[in-house]
Amino acid sequence: MSIPARDPVTAYVALGANLGDARHSVLTALEALSRLPHSQLTGHSHLYSTAPYEAEGPDFVNAVARIETRLTAPDLLAALQAIENLAGRQRPYTHAPRTLDLDVLMFGHATMQSTRLNLPHPRWRERAFVLWPLADLAPEWVTGEDWARVAQQAITRLPD
Ligand code: AMP
Repeated sequence: MSIPARDPVTAYVALGANLGDARHSVLTALEALSRLPHSQLTGHSHLYSTAPYEAEGPDFVNAVARIETRLTAPDLLAALQAIENLAGRQRPYTHAPRTLDLDVLMFGHATMQSTRLNLPHPRWRERAFVLWPLADLAPEWVTGEDWARVAQQAITRLPD
């Protein structure tokens, strides 16, 4: 990984897990995010429990983290995938249950469409499990229309 000389960017990362001890996986992932190179974890949401949405298996534990980073977006994604792999993530088929899923929701105001990385994440506004935790950190990102869109998706805030 090259040594970055650029200004830090505020990135939001969605965390989700629904296999094994999902709460533990999310908390361990937050710890791993706090050790990302050239980055600082500057906040995270409460934890939430949600029924699988476009996925299978037990309920998910979800959260969102805010990171100030000097990494490029592709380097951040690679670092997130390394954390997923350490958590034992396998991809046997699309929408399979996952020990840990980390998505880049936003990378500053960057827009990007490539096979490896789409920014902002194309579906973040459709998911209660993104909007609720994101609103803990950045309520200004979530509009009344967004809340209405996800109103039917069950979500419970877990005790801290
Ligand atoms: P998943 O299996 O749900 O973890 O999807 C990961 C795949 O989506 C990887 O191949 C990534 O390259 C791709 N991808 C595209 N955009 C994003 C993004 N904003 N955050 C995370 N993964 C992304």
